[in-house]
Amino acid sequence: MTDARTAIYRVALFVASVLFLLGLRALTKPESARRGLSYAACGMLIGVVGTLFHHEIIEYQWIIGGVVLGVVIGVPMGLLIPMTKMPERVALSLAFGSLAVTTVGIAEFLHQGAAMTHFAVGAVSFEVLMGAMTFTGSLMAFGKLNGAITGRPVTFPGNNLVSLAMFATAAVALGILVTQPGDLRLFLGIIAAGLVLGVLVVLPIGGADMPVVICLFNAYAGLAAAASGFVLDNHVLIICGALDGGSGVILAIIMSKAMNRSFANVLFGAFGNEVTATADAAKGSVREGSAEDAGELLKLAGSVTFVPGYGMAVGQAQHAVRDLANALAANGTRVKYAIHPVAGRMPGHMNVLLAEANVPYDQLYELEAINDDFAQTDVVVVVGANDVVNPAARTQPKSPIYGMPVLNADYAKAVIVLKRGMAPGFAGIDNELFGLPQTMMVFGDAKATLGKIVAVVKDSGHG
Ligand code: NDP
Repeated sequence: MTDARTAIYRVALFVASVLFLLGLRALTKPESARRGLSYAACGMLIGVVGTLFHHEIIEYQWIIGGVVLGVVIGVPMGLLIPMTKMPERVALSLAFGSLAVTTVGIAEFLHQGAAMTHFAVGAVSFEVLMGAMTFTGSLMAFGKLNGAITGRPVTFPGNNLVSLAMFATAAVALGILVTQPGDLRLFLGIIAAGLVLGVLVVLPIGGADMPVVICLFNAYAGLAAAASGFVLDNHVLIICGALDGGSGVILAIIMSKAMNRSFANVLFGAFGNEVTATADAAKGSVREGSAEDAGELLKLAGSVTFVPGYGMAVGQAQHAVRDLANALAANGTRVKYAIHPVAGRMPGHMNVLLAEANVPYDQLYELEAINDDFAQTDVVVVVGANDVVNPAARTQPKSPIYGMPVLNADYAKAVIVLKRGMAPGFAGIDNELFGLPQTMMVFGDAKATLGKIVAVVKDSGHG
């Protein structure tokens, strides 16, 4: 290997690392998020090309085969999977990524065998333990999210203890392997323990908590990649893995907090049972209105705040929301959007959808910034949101969501709720907002209803 080649390799890895850092930084703001992704993608390309350049590759066919296979799987995944299925897609990508990390670890162990240093064998064992656990855990999360595996928490007596004992055994095996590098049986035992742990860890967690679990597995995959960086002496893998590991944990903690659940409660509790109630019978006890009624009410409003939720994502109603907002603004109405941190099914879900519909960022307000504003708001339009506007979180200590910060939509002068029926949301509980005297329920698919409301609002300008 010539010095020039090594120098180019080092520069490439340095540039890639800087691009990853810049990318992560840019991802913190919606306006620069797209740019951030481009930085990260360029960083990845430079990292891959630099690494290939550094190694004396004799046969390229396997590498080209891998690239083609990746493109054949990745491009349709990116293009065809809808936004509502994003958590599943992320779970699947994580499974692929962790499988790759695990196989790299296995190849390195088989290649170097007993010649490995104690440190390298420790790193590679950690890498395959985390990688194998993330692989099966992510596949389980994928199965729970798409319904292939029951979304209910599956528990058996002492399940957490069994997982803990298995983890401890794997840790001991890892310790022994460090002192005796090259023991293949111990190495395979660690991989097997990782594969079983992934299943055991996810089984007792409810399907609805999977997005938090996926963030955590993201962190594990990052740690595995960082360990792989130590084994392969690849700095960009160490930096990238550490960023991934750190951000995954932070995101999981932020999400748990926004749901007012402790991290331990997500991992060891059994919240998130599948919701079966449809509660359509309760329709009778609420005030129902038509799209025309809603349109007439909105024409009179001086200020309107939209509260989007999971139903907006399901109904793909974001463009219709923007159309209504534009029609209202043309009437001189002040329009805002209230964004709850866990509205939808993944962090930033609403921001992404509204950005796709070209809603200006400066109209988006986070919970703390808008909650005091509701009392002065003429009309709140709840678009397929439920739990994030449930007053029970403030008023009913026995409610499973008690303590979760919610948007104070019930403080507004009038509330219009767009949903298909009286089905509960993610938490599976009733919402007293729907029965309040100032609330009007407009039943139907959000996109279709919004279309009708827009027509009414546009029809005759101010009412
Ligand atoms: P919810 O899940 O509480 O409610 C969504 C509502 O949308 C349902 O009640 C449903 O009622 C309605 N809906 C579904 N399809 C349509 C449609 N086509 N048109 C109109 N309405 C529709 O959503 P929220 O966003 O309010 O709350 C998110 C929940 O998810 C929170 O409990 C949060 O803790 C949880 N969560 C969020 C995560 C995140 O990262 N964002 C991660 C994990 C959990 P109906 O069927 O009657 O129409």
